[in-house]
Parts: sequence; structure tokens; C-alpha cells
Amino acid sequence: MSDVNHQLSKALVERYEPNTLFVVENLTGVRQATEKVRKKDRYSTVSWAFYQLRHMLEYKAAMKGAKVIAVDPKYTSQTCPKCNGKAQENRDKKKHVFHCTHCGYASNDDRIAAMNLERKGTEYLAQVTASV
Ligand SMILES: [Zn+2]
Repeated sequence: MSDVNHQLSKALVERYEPNTLFVVENLTGVRQATEKVRKKDRYSTVSWAFYQLRHMLEYKAAMKGAKVIAVDPKYTSQTCPKCNGKAQENRDKKKHVFHCTHCGYASNDDRIAAMNLERKGTEYLAQVTASV
């Protein structure tokens, strides 16, 4: 897993421009949530690998003048990136489908989460550039 994380973080940093902002989910809360369903070992392994990837990405990004931020993953798969409607029913976790009950926008749920992370990154940039 460490080797995969090394290669993946290296590829990401090389693929994008030096001033790139990488936005990842802060997944510390996920492990706690999954522990309740007694799949602790499996999920904590996944969490650990993701945590390692995040740190490898952080130091490799820093060496190239890029940055990594970890944002709250809450509702990233339930919030519509088009109308901002937030509902648990928007996401069918088993089918990996997102379908907004408000505006009808539909897509893959991971894609939706990525779109929402991009928005959080844009909001972060607006905030830090406004305070300069
Ligand atoms: Zn919508």
C-alpha cells in the first residue's frame, strides 16, 4: 500500500501545475462512523492508507509549491452541486447514484462528491485571497 501511495502522490503532483490546490476529505470521522457497524479492521486499514496518501501528497506538493487542504466530508455526497439542495435521499449508496430530489440533477455519487470538494476548494481560495 505504501508503494501505491508513493506512486499515486508522485503522479498527482507531477500531473498538475506547481500552484495547484489539492482538496481531500478529512476522513478522521469516517473511521469512527464505520466502527459502529463492526467492520473496524477493514475500514481502519482503508482510513490508514488514505491518511498516509494525504501526508505523502502534502509533502510532495509542498516541495513543488502546491498545497493540500483537508475539508469536512460531511454531506459531500448528499449535496447537489447544481442547486445546493441537501438531502439524504439524493444519494443511493448501493447503486452509487446521486439524484437531486429538488432539481433533478443526476450523476455518479463519487463524481458529485468530487464536484463538491472542488467547490470547497474554490471557497477556500476566495477566503484566503480576500484576507490578504
Ligand atoms: Zn439539485
